[in-house]
Amino acid sequence: MKVIIVGGVAGGASAATRMRRLSEDTETILFEKGEYISYANCGLPYYLGGVISDRERLIVTKADLLRDRFAVDVRVKSEVIAINRSMKTVTVQDAAGGRTYEESYDKLLLSPGANPRVYDLPGVHSKGIFTLRTLTDTYAIDDFINQKSPKKAVIVGGGFIGIEMAENLKERGLDVTLVEFMDQVLTFLDKEMVIPIHQNLRDNGIRLCLGAGVKSFLPMPGTGADENALTPMDLTLTNNLHVTADLVLLCTGVVPDAALAVNAGLTTGAGGCILVDDLFRSSDPDIFAVGDAICVTSMISGKDVMIPLAGPANKQGREAAEIILFGEVKRPAGKSARKVQGSSVVKIFDQIAASTGFSEKQLQKEGIAFQKTIIHPSSHANYYPNATNMSMKLLFSPDGKILGAQAVGYDGVDKRIDVIAAVLRMGGTVYDLEELELCYAPPVSSAKDPVNMIGFTAANILKGDVKAFYPEQVNDLIAAGAVLLDVSTPDERAMGGIPGSLTIPLDDLRERVSELSKDKPLYVFCRVGQRGYIAARYLTLHGFDVYNLSGGYRSYNLLRQEEKAMKNDLEKMQQDLPVMETASGAAGAATAAAPAAPAAKAISVDACGLACPGPIMKVAAGIKDLASGEILHITATDPAFASDINVWCERTGNTLLSVQREKGIFTVDIRKGDAPAAAAAGAPGQIVSSGNDKTMVVFSGDLDKAIAAFIIANGAAAMGRKVTIFFTFWGLNILRKSTHVRVKKNLIEKMFGFMMPRGAKKLGLSRMNMGGMGAMMIRGIMKNKNVQSLEDLIKAAMDSGVRVLACQMSMDLMGIKEEELLEGVELAGVATFLGSAETSDTNLFI
Ligand code: FAD
Repeated sequence: MKVIIVGGVAGGASAATRMRRLSEDTETILFEKGEYISYANCGLPYYLGGVISDRERLIVTKADLLRDRFAVDVRVKSEVIAINRSMKTVTVQDAAGGRTYEESYDKLLLSPGANPRVYDLPGVHSKGIFTLRTLTDTYAIDDFINQKSPKKAVIVGGGFIGIEMAENLKERGLDVTLVEFMDQVLTFLDKEMVIPIHQNLRDNGIRLCLGAGVKSFLPMPGTGADENALTPMDLTLTNNLHVTADLVLLCTGVVPDAALAVNAGLTTGAGGCILVDDLFRSSDPDIFAVGDAICVTSMISGKDVMIPLAGPANKQGREAAEIILFGEVKRPAGKSARKVQGSSVVKIFDQIAASTGFSEKQLQKEGIAFQKTIIHPSSHANYYPNATNMSMKLLFSPDGKILGAQAVGYDGVDKRIDVIAAVLRMGGTVYDLEELELCYAPPVSSAKDPVNMIGFTAANILKGDVKAFYPEQVNDLIAAGAVLLDVSTPDERAMGGIPGSLTIPLDDLRERVSELSKDKPLYVFCRVGQRGYIAARYLTLHGFDVYNLSGGYRSYNLLRQEEKAMKNDLEKMQQDLPVMETASGAAGAATAAAPAAPAAKAISVDACGLACPGPIMKVAAGIKDLASGEILHITATDPAFASDINVWCERTGNTLLSVQREKGIFTVDIRKGDAPAAAAAGAPGQIVSSGNDKTMVVFSGDLDKAIAAFIIANGAAAMGRKVTIFFTFWGLNILRKSTHVRVKKNLIEKMFGFMMPRGAKKLGLSRMNMGGMGAMMIRGIMKNKNVQSLEDLIKAAMDSGVRVLACQMSMDLMGIKEEELLEGVELAGVATFLGSAETSDTNLFI
């Protein structure tokens, strides 16, 4: 049998070698229109970035090897320009020999791949504008950079190749702007998953322009006269902003290279791809096709689609060889390499993003019913050094079948998606993920691997153990007046929370459950979703209607941060500000600060693997052991740490010297106190006094006066002022717990205790109280106007470091015991209050 193969890279070369391994009787001719066969197109960006320095290494298999070892007649620089189906011949244009000739076949296999998509825009064919598909393209870009020394590159399109090229051109020293029409890069991922990638690109000095495309590429006025000189271009975007570029790379997707097949009258399908059956037969039974140019069947939707990836192309080539020789593949019916799930992975500087199956967007578009869960697990056991954090998302059908998974992080991201991809391929469910027995030792995993964990959370949703709500719903819930409950610790809450949410730390929930009403559903959240789940279970078992925030505050906050970051990107574009590079993937403005001069003492703290507030608590504990001016050196992997540490340092008067990130590990240096003298004024971890503190004496136990006091206190604390409130006489009632506390009291004390209001909820108005009606009305109005309740104001004040002092003398007089007061209230004498008043510029008596 004589077989002709068109295309000598992924699909074509795989088919040629497999065919020889299965048969010695076949005559195989492989035509490749380019100069090289079997080269590593996936490695091309890394050659341009200098990671792969040797051109030779990009050639996976040389033509000679195919000729000598596999007896394949390889003909490079030979383009098949026509298929003559009736004659069973192809017409070949031999560029090297300068001739055109016919070659006959018994069977023909097409693996011509896909071409970069180039939109017909003004100036799109100008000098300095490139696409990247082949080695020849690669060398052209390389030569351009070497010879013309461009400074500014614009990548158009944020898919795999665009992202890889952004990274590699940056590594090559160019100033890179990435323009993407959608509001996110890597559209195979869902928006919330891609936000850490946007952050990473920005941190690495890539200027992002999302939500805009390029309208035209025109030479900058006054340039272009000199043929050999670099010609800077002015790119006009669809949002009418302008970007200048010396080099442009078009990465706007690919289109199947199906012209040969179309001209031969073969049937095409989705996106103009060659239509084949599960045996890779085209509409002509003697012509087969594989790779990027064919329609594959989506494993999720069952529809014909184009999925241009190297893995499927190679496997299809291998399978097609067997089919061409034997008419079938020996395997159970229904299995075929033409069924593709689209597993893919990409590196973004030190980060990895991977996915398999459908994203949420795709499921919505196809109208496929699904459920979802998001978790933020660690790459391996937290107690073993250098555990890094990852975000994972699982999409599954209402009966548990896996439909897709995505993960973004550092170590072990690809491993987790590969495992889920295997289960998806086998038609598995979330229950299979729960049961999977995966290898475990602390340096590489956890006894409950992230794959098991995401299976557990998905199964919990399906079994009805917990109802989930999602970050994108939060704003609507707030607008609808839903009750959101934060069960994070006060330290975590101090780093941020959903506006208007109640706060009861998980460990206080049993004691304070009476503060919650069963009238409305409760929307519970913690930082990443795990303690929210525990709270949700507890509250559900106590008759509440509860929803847990999937992915927790971290996922919600990512969405909010992204809105701000996109606005910032746009503002920078408008002002045409230069790209700010932060050293080696650094993580924030603080990185620009010069490292501290060596201090007398420095201590190192390892908080890797700890989730928020673990790293911050370690910082607070570590700083206590230092004298002012000494350095705390801390490593952490919690992704929120970079922003948390900024806030913490601001609030505590310590100086953030530097934040570096490498492979998901933050390395942070903090100098205790912003100056030796200033540090001495404040207790470690406390807001430092600056002479404009605020003090208050709260004598009254009236609701309206208490609200006023705490609104002022919260406002002052938000301005970074140190606030101390001294509660005396009737004011002490504000600080009482609302629940009855068993304490020993004499008769008079008991009578006093009975007559006085127990806590903030029971206070009356100073005027128009009307037997408690007025107080109820004012609470209702506050709720409608989204003003925090007095209980929340007290909590918020204490969370933000307001010192709440209870006058010991008044407590003794009124028979109020320490156990009856809210957690965090300090018992104090007048000297403590006066000490605070001395550094204060405002003192109120309420
Ligand atoms: P190709 O490998 O493109 O081979 C087709 C060959 O056919 C070409 O060499 C072409 O010159 C030749 N040809 C076309 N028409 C004719 C003709 N008429 N006569 C003779 N020869 C012809 N995929 C991944 O999964 N992971 C990655 O990381 C990844 N990175 C990539 C990076 C880059 C820069 C590029 C360009 C692609 C990348 N891909 C990646 C995609 C992957 O390379 C393709 O999916 C895969 O190569 C497709 O194989 P194929 O055989 O269909 O086509």
